[in-house]
Amino acid sequence: MKNVPITVAHGDGIGPEIMNASLHILKEAGARIDFETIEIGEAVYNKGFKGGIEDKSWESLRRTKVFYKAPITTPQGGGFKSLNVMVRTTLGLYANIRPCVSYAPFIDTKHPVMDVVIVRENEEDLYSGIEHRQTNDMVQTLKLISRPGCEKIVRYAFEYAKENNRKKVTCFTKDNIMKMTDGLFHKVFDEIAAEYSGIVNEHWIVDIGAAKMADTPEAFDVIVMPNLYGDILSDVAAQIAGSVGLAGSSNIGDQCAMFEAIHGSAPRRANQNLANPSGLFLGGIMMLVHIGQGDVAERAHNAWLKTIEDGIHTYDVYQEGVSKEKVGTKEFADAVVKRLGQKPEKLKAVKYNATVNKAATSTTSITSNTKTKKELVGVDVFLDWKGGKPDDLAVLMNKNATEGLNLAMITNRGVKVWPEGFSETFCVDHWRCRFTSKEKGKLVNHTQIVKLLEKINASGLDFIKTENLCNFDGEAGYSLIQGQ
Ligand code: NAD
Repeated sequence: MKNVPITVAHGDGIGPEIMNASLHILKEAGARIDFETIEIGEAVYNKGFKGGIEDKSWESLRRTKVFYKAPITTPQGGGFKSLNVMVRTTLGLYANIRPCVSYAPFIDTKHPVMDVVIVRENEEDLYSGIEHRQTNDMVQTLKLISRPGCEKIVRYAFEYAKENNRKKVTCFTKDNIMKMTDGLFHKVFDEIAAEYSGIVNEHWIVDIGAAKMADTPEAFDVIVMPNLYGDILSDVAAQIAGSVGLAGSSNIGDQCAMFEAIHGSAPRRANQNLANPSGLFLGGIMMLVHIGQGDVAERAHNAWLKTIEDGIHTYDVYQEGVSKEKVGTKEFADAVVKRLGQKPEKLKAVKYNATVNKAATSTTSITSNTKTKKELVGVDVFLDWKGGKPDDLAVLMNKNATEGLNLAMITNRGVKVWPEGFSETFCVDHWRCRFTSKEKGKLVNHTQIVKLLEKINASGLDFIKTENLCNFDGEAGYSLIQGQ
């Protein structure tokens, strides 16, 4: 059988040590792979590449389509971009899979039967990095959630559950507050869940869901969630299972995939042969399954479980009275290699198919191409203004109202302050003035909006941005303000 080419990056901090240890185990287990090494991280940032990766490295990634990546150190300060976010989004790696398993009684945990897989959306939400300072007081980031984005990740979660004999998929969102963005994620979850009758589905509001997961993780199986919640809660899940140092992760797209540890480069532990290579190693196991070498993955993973069970532990999971031997990174890898061919006796042995993981290659069917009727019904004009009270602004803006458009209301940080605002409401210099059609039910056109902005500009007011108010098939495509 031909070897599969893989792009490898050794990263920063503890990265090179844990990558060498992981590759050593995978090779000794019989992985049929050829490595191409690229440089990423600190050294590349220092050469002036703002994303921490050189242009020539993309060629390797786009050709091999499989990236095995050690953690890197993200430089502090402005101007630099997160390499992880850039690789994930540029290569379309929309699904981030993070299994969080406890290994009691060998690794200390309050949750001895935990086995949760977090499926984190990887491309959207608050990670688009579209941020603006709009006024002296106010900065803004955009939370972007698309229907195709939701469909891809939710379908992936259900396909993953089906493929891996998981019984339940739970969705976490905050759609009681973010009714449009998280609301869409939840809606798509319900739609797709209906196609998988053999798998239980449920939805939790993320705050109480997170609390429940931290307290009773055995109540969950697969949990799918938007990017930010998934980022935070997968670290929580990994930590309560035993240690962030133990969790691996895969980032899957329709064409490419990336495999890594969930932890960072732990610079304080670097170059001391101390770090636990298990997270990156388990990312490597997911990589072998992905490229159809489940036989090798099974052999290596079971040897690793046996090593953990035999009490051969690195400093981060070592426990007096439970562990048998405290070892360094290299010695831990050697101990796993020594156990190749063995299976754990107390922990559950793993079993993988030798074929390519179907969930990783499942074609995503997108339903969002259905045409909707879009009608323009108004506009929100955002202003930078520090001229007085809301009523004063209303007087100014009413003067600017053009033919066909009426000032309907003014809000400050989302709170209605005109008409009939409360004097107690705290206001900053960032205002939203909502204009809607003068005649109820009459549509608005772009020319009217341009004229309105011309008048606002001529009156010396500083408009920051506008958001069009549209109905889609008659349903408001914007959040209503209280009282509207
Ligand atoms: P970290 O995950 O590197 O370390 C957190 C804690 O966990 C530290 O106490 C560390 O010693 C310990 N730890 C982590 N991995 C370990 C391992 N394998 N073995 C033993 N102990 C381990 O998080 P941090 O300190 O917040 O971040 C350090 C750097 O890593 C930062 O520059 C951050 O931006 C970067 N980072 C990179 C990635 C990535 O490349 N995927 C992810 C997260 C953070």
